[in-house]
Amino acid sequence: MRLRHLLFLTQLPFCAMVLAAFVILQGSLDRRVQALAQVSETRTQLERTAELLTHVLDMETGVRGFVIAGQPAFLEPYYRGEAAYPVVINGLRGDATLGDENRARLGQVTDLLRQWQAEVAQPEIRLRAERPAEAEALVRSGRGKRILDQVRAGVSEIEQTLRQRLQSMDANAQAQLGQFQRTLAGVAVTLLLLSVTITLLTSRLLTGPLAALGRGTQRVTDQGAVTVTERGPREYRELAGAFNLMSRGVQEARESSAHAAAELGRRNAWLRDLAQLSDALQAARSVQEGAAILTRALPHLLPGTSGQLLQHNASRNLLLPAAAWGEGMSTPGPDRCWALRRGETQGGEAGRPFMPDCAAQEGTYLCAPLFSHGETLGLLRVHPAPGVDPEGLRGSLNDVARQVALALASLRLQDRLLQQSIRDPLTGLFNRRHLESQLAEGVVAAQGGEEALSVVALDIDHFKRLNDTFGHDAGDAALVRVSAALRELAPPGSTPARPGGEEFTLLLPHVGVAQAAALAETLRARVEGLDLAHDGISLGQVTVSLGVAGLPPGGTGEALIAAADQALYAAKRAGRNRVVVAGAPALQGQAARS
Ligand code: GH3
Ligand code: MG
Ligand code: MG
Repeated sequence: MRLRHLLFLTQLPFCAMVLAAFVILQGSLDRRVQALAQVSETRTQLERTAELLTHVLDMETGVRGFVIAGQPAFLEPYYRGEAAYPVVINGLRGDATLGDENRARLGQVTDLLRQWQAEVAQPEIRLRAERPAEAEALVRSGRGKRILDQVRAGVSEIEQTLRQRLQSMDANAQAQLGQFQRTLAGVAVTLLLLSVTITLLTSRLLTGPLAALGRGTQRVTDQGAVTVTERGPREYRELAGAFNLMSRGVQEARESSAHAAAELGRRNAWLRDLAQLSDALQAARSVQEGAAILTRALPHLLPGTSGQLLQHNASRNLLLPAAAWGEGMSTPGPDRCWALRRGETQGGEAGRPFMPDCAAQEGTYLCAPLFSHGETLGLLRVHPAPGVDPEGLRGSLNDVARQVALALASLRLQDRLLQQSIRDPLTGLFNRRHLESQLAEGVVAAQGGEEALSVVALDIDHFKRLNDTFGHDAGDAALVRVSAALRELAPPGSTPARPGGEEFTLLLPHVGVAQAAALAETLRARVEGLDLAHDGISLGQVTVSLGVAGLPPGGTGEALIAAADQALYAAKRAGRNRVVVAGAPALQGQAARS
């Protein structure tokens, strides 16, 4: 039902009541008008009865005056009354509301008046002129008075009944008025009650759905999707339907916005973590340190995955793991990796049927190549656990790979520069600068913890002669072979160095003099046993002389090196190809052979 129809319907009872009130009022007014007309007629009849009595009195006094005075002028009221009373009587008779009883009484009055005229008035008038005494006797007989008293009594009865009727009409009018007032009051009260009832019903009908909409709107504001019942007039139902649609829209928008906000929050947190990783990698001093950081960070940045960070080796024919997390996985050769070949991330997207078989293509792995400044550094390779969204992982992997590639390139460059600054380019051993810094550190550590620290100084015997005999290149080759022997025998944590020329030094933290001397002897024997050749020409036997010294308590690095050098010179002096420990005689075994 439409709203205007409802409003019209609610007004119908009210209109009906107003119509009924009008009809009642109209009926009451009609009755009142009729009653007033009857009253008016009755009053006219009363006036006529009074007029009739006046005429009777005029005729009686006219005749009596004439009889007493004998003058015809006294008869004038008589003749006026005689002419007028029949008119009055006819008027009364012609009135339909007079009633049968009064009409009968009026007939008797008429008969009495005629009898009085015929038997009393006319004889008295006639006798007064001829026989006045008979006329007076007739008057004194009282016959005329008795007839006229009957006339007056009859008229009085008519008057009495008319007055009673008038009173009854008044009473009726009062009763009607009271009835009318009561009806009017009843109608007014009924109208009032009806109006209140209709107003309440209408307001309930109209405000109910609106209130439901209002409550629904509040609930939508507070908690989201709300469905209000589609009831009431058609316009309300349409409004409620539109509201329900809007409510669903609001809820969907709210959910989507909450989801987007949560997603944005996760993304922000993830980007913060990535930025922290970038900071940490920038602060790292070496690829090794960076790899340790990545081993901890990558499982966190790529949750739900196992994986590995692979680097090219120096000759770029192998991929070597720099960091790994989660389940172990095989390492592909660089040639078999399509991510490296194509230079873009593989896996985690819709399959490419035209691509050859590859673990990444099958969705088993996602592989992101690591590029920086046009150079391929390696590969970031992950294996997602079931349920991980490959598309999302692909995006994260690309972001991580970019940061890792940048950091890795920087760390590799840093490593390279560092190695260049601390290594001797010919032999790959540490240079003098690094030896001195390691010595200073070793001395501090040894002095603080009362640890041993030893130094072995090594010099190739008659190296000038070898150079002169076989050439400088052969000399270099001999230097490389001796340095290789030194590197092989150097224990972990020691510093094998080439401070210059054909002299070498081995710094041995946590190693006592005796152990250092034994190591020096092993080294000497190893070099002595080398079969050196250059360009197919044997260089003959190469020997070395070694001096060994230990750091005394409170000793300095310079003093330690000087002591080792002194021992080395002593070994030279003692005949070369031998080991001399500072403060001890040259080892006799070697001395005998030199
Ligand atoms: P000694 O047994 O007393 O040590 O005699 P030596 O000939 O080994 O000692 P010397 O100090 O007289 O000669 C060292 C030579 O080492 C001189 C120099 O030409 C040579 N030399 C120094 N640095 C290099 C180098 O880098 N390459 C080559 N091939 N020779 C070098
Ligand atoms: Mg020398
Ligand atoms: Mg020498």
